[in-house]
Amino acid sequence: MSTETRRDFEIESARRAGKDRPSSRIDYSKLVIVPDPDTAEWWAGTHEHKYLVRQCAECGHKWFPPLPACSNCTSMKLDWFETRGTGIIYGYAVVTQPILAAFTAAVPYIIGLIDLDDCLDIRGVPVRVKGIVLNTEEEVGIGLPVRAVFESTDDPNIVVPHWTVSGDRPGCWRFAEK
Ligand SMILES: [Zn+2]
Repeated sequence: MSTETRRDFEIESARRAGKDRPSSRIDYSKLVIVPDPDTAEWWAGTHEHKYLVRQCAECGHKWFPPLPACSNCTSMKLDWFETRGTGIIYGYAVVTQPILAAFTAAVPYIIGLIDLDDCLDIRGVPVRVKGIVLNTEEEVGIGLPVRAVFESTDDPNIVVPHWTVSGDRPGCWRFAEK
């Protein structure tokens, strides 16, 4: 069974079981993820299967990734906003070359730009985040809805969010068929 076929099988099996047991096939034993003061609470959120974005306590602006000051008003009085963990694929790319050894078994995989659907910035523009979409190239398309799923790692304190297609949208844009 090829790597891609095996991954498809695992994802489909998890779907049939009705459970969120995503597998990106990333070898987390080859990665060290160390939360810093700007991200520690975000990682605490993913541990609870929450997808958080930064929100300014002064002006209400929301953004991601969590920088130490508001990108609208520069205030350092910051809160977190708990999103529903759902969004729409704005764009995506297929990664076929692993840059790090941890990703050797993960390729090919999809990196998606996700517009969160309950989370607007100060301009009224959806907050856009990046992440791995745990679907095959044939299953993804621009405009499709996705939801966050959370993958455990070798470190019990580190849970990594990914995305999975959660519905259909006829006529969505896909790369030209092979
Ligand atoms: Zn602000």
